[in-house]
Amino acid sequence: MSAPATQAQEPASREDRGAPAYDEAWFAARAQAGIQRLKAYDPGHDLVALRRRFGEANLAELGSNENPYGPSPQARAAILDSLHALHRYPDPLGADLKRALAAKHGVDVAQVQLGNGSHELLMQLAQVFAGPGDEVVFSRYGFAVFALATQAAGATMRIVEALPRDAAMPCGHDLDAIAAAIGPATRLVYVANPNNPTGTWFGREAMIAFLDRVPADVLVVMDEAYAEMAEAPDYASALSLLGRYPNLAITRTFSKAYGLAGLRVGYLLAQPGLVQVMDRLRESFNVNGPALAACVAALADEAHLDWACARNAEQRAALAAALQQRGLRVFPSQTNFVLVEFGPRTAQIEAALVERGVILRPMAGYGLADCLRISVGSPDENRRLLAALDQVLT
Ligand SMILES: *Cc1c(COP(=O)(O)O)cnc(C)c1O
Repeated sequence: MSAPATQAQEPASREDRGAPAYDEAWFAARAQAGIQRLKAYDPGHDLVALRRRFGEANLAELGSNENPYGPSPQARAAILDSLHALHRYPDPLGADLKRALAAKHGVDVAQVQLGNGSHELLMQLAQVFAGPGDEVVFSRYGFAVFALATQAAGATMRIVEALPRDAAMPCGHDLDAIAAAIGPATRLVYVANPNNPTGTWFGREAMIAFLDRVPADVLVVMDEAYAEMAEAPDYASALSLLGRYPNLAITRTFSKAYGLAGLRVGYLLAQPGLVQVMDRLRESFNVNGPALAACVAALADEAHLDWACARNAEQRAALAAALQQRGLRVFPSQTNFVLVEFGPRTAQIEAALVERGVILRPMAGYGLADCLRISVGSPDENRRLLAALDQVLT
């Protein structure tokens, strides 16, 4: 017991001698240049504390675009089944899951890479393909991880102005401007379709016109985290274009439509050579055993996926209509969230909703301080949101 006490006293005596504080600033000054400028990912509210305060059942958690219905029951069963092997390392190749994904998407197994969430893959793409002196291009209001990944790699961000607020796709990607921003230093372009937090999307013709303009040695990363939920006739996945554009990489996730955010699994589809180079950086057991088993089972249960996506589309339309009835502007969306304009009182409205157990995502960090991003919840959650909103807006 005496040793810890001595250690605890030590910093005070050092401070007396004018030693540094060893605080964030001190360590940041010793970090590599990209990290020095980096701001950590903002995960939103402290949900663990809010659950403790309100009780989980009294909270409408609509801030993180999770699937309110949860995963396929078969995924739960597969997790329980996998528990006998917790003392074993997982398959470092994730071979069963890669085979299932390859079969589902009609690609070769060698074209699939697994990540601990697609967040990990987005980070690794920049780390592998861009560094100091290189540029990474992406849109304003593009997914927050694009900026994190670029800076963590020490590369330079080239942020392209988005479409205007009064456009048909408000704040959406301006693909022409993105293509025009690509220069000799550009190594990587991040595009999200549909995009978070705007919910905006684009279709096949626009995508082809864009990809035709991207130089063959510049990598295009198409983040399709919400692809399963997009059903508009003018939306298209880039999947069918993988063979035509070898510089294209697509990321997807089990966190959203599949309802497995807690397991952290994403995947990448690209050329086998790209996957091989990405593999050099991958932590050997980056996806855990229960997660691998659950995702294989989730892929096999297409009925559950279709059911969850249909519920989402129906609830999204109902929620958007109800918000519009209350005089709010709702951005178009092909995802499981809507971006909504709340005007100059946005911050107060958001705080008042938290006090009523309704958690939305503030958008000030994205430069959209007058908007909130609302995940489409279950019918009950959406009702509670609207009831709380009616109290707060009057
Ligand atoms: C949620 C999200 C992801 C990543 O999710 P993971 O849980 O890391 O797989 C990636 N891109 C976008 C646009 C997202 O909204």
